[in-house]
Amino acid sequence: MDGNYFVLPVIMGEEESMKVEVDQMKCGTVGLCVKECPEVFRFQEGSKKATVILGVIPPALQKKCRDAAKKCPNAAITIKE
Ligand code: SF4
Repeated sequence: MDGNYFVLPVIMGEEESMKVEVDQMKCGTVGLCVKECPEVFRFQEGSKKATVILGVIPPALQKKCRDAAKKCPNAAITIKE
């Protein structure tokens, strides 16, 4: 019982520390990430390359972010956990 009590906060802390970056040199303006996860990815005005609008990705959006990263045709999305 006590073991479960201490393990849970550690797991939550790891999930909350997820960050995402878009490599501007690789991004090819396809827009798949923006369509897949608009809560996290947006096009920049002018350049039309994707950027990340959240500093830390909340747990509820982490799966969508991973899916978007896998689907990016240019492998421009890096997930840091
Ligand atoms: S899916 Fe990849 S290439 Fe397309 S806009 Fe997003 S980061 Fe750029």
